Amino acid sequence: CGIVGYVGHRPALEVVLDGLRKLEYRGYDSAGVAVLDGAGGLTVERKAGRLANLEARLDEVGRDRFAGTSGMGHTRWATHGAPIDRNSHPHRDVTGQLAVVHNGIIENFASLRAELEAAGVEMASDTDTESVAHLVARAFDGVDGSATRGDLTASVQAVCRRLEGAFTLVVTHASEPGRIVAARRSSPLVVGVGDGETFLASDVAAFIEHTRHAVELGQDQVVTITAEGYQVTDFAGEPAEGRPFEVNWDL
Ligand code: GLU
Repeated sequence: CGIVGYVGHRPALEVVLDGLRKLEYRGYDSAGVAVLDGAGGLTVERKAGRLANLEARLDEVGRDRFAGTSGMGHTRWATHGAPIDRNSHPHRDVTGQLAVVHNGIIENFASLRAELEAAGVEMASDTDTESVAHLVARAFDGVDGSATRGDLTASVQAVCRRLEGAFTLVVTHASEPGRIVAARRSSPLVVGVGDGETFLASDVAAFIEHTRHAVELGQDQVVTITAEGYQVTDFAGEPAEGRPFEVNWDL
């Protein structure tokens, strides 16, 4: 339902939680965050219910476990799978190294899920989203001898070409703490361009307290953000352009 991503110089957890709070008006049934510590660690926490439930859980496990300057967050409006902790986003692959948040619906998830199960992947949730985490991780790890090995952006592009439905996806990998890859089809995605920091969100409200420079992604586009900026392609990997605009209104 709501998505926030961040790569920059500030503690990502607080930037992401703050962004999620700004998106609360959309309504949601669960929330979650993922933070990359920059040293190969990816920490995820998610909780059914209000953001306050997630925050209480973060206090319980200790917010210092979420040190790092890149991360992402999600508020979920369940379409596939009950609104319970294990169906909340982010979803991870079997190695726990890759995490995905998703808005929308993957229409062909049943066949993707069957394909993954036939390959021995055990599903940890009832969502349409989880398949995407496994598929991108397998493309990135080169499990199927794929040419996208080690390239997170190319892995996301390859998987997007296989997806049907409406989606905004945000993908992180523990080994790539300085970049986050996102994609969209028929579901909103905007980039916020700051000074040494870059934001992703389903709605500019999530980041306008930090920057007014925004870029709206077009249909079937993939964007890779780093602290220095962003790069847009289409699902085939060809260079593409988003639509830059200035946000001149206040919340
Ligand atoms: N279809 C996904 C799910 O049910 C995402 C829902 C959303 O947009 O929040 O988990």
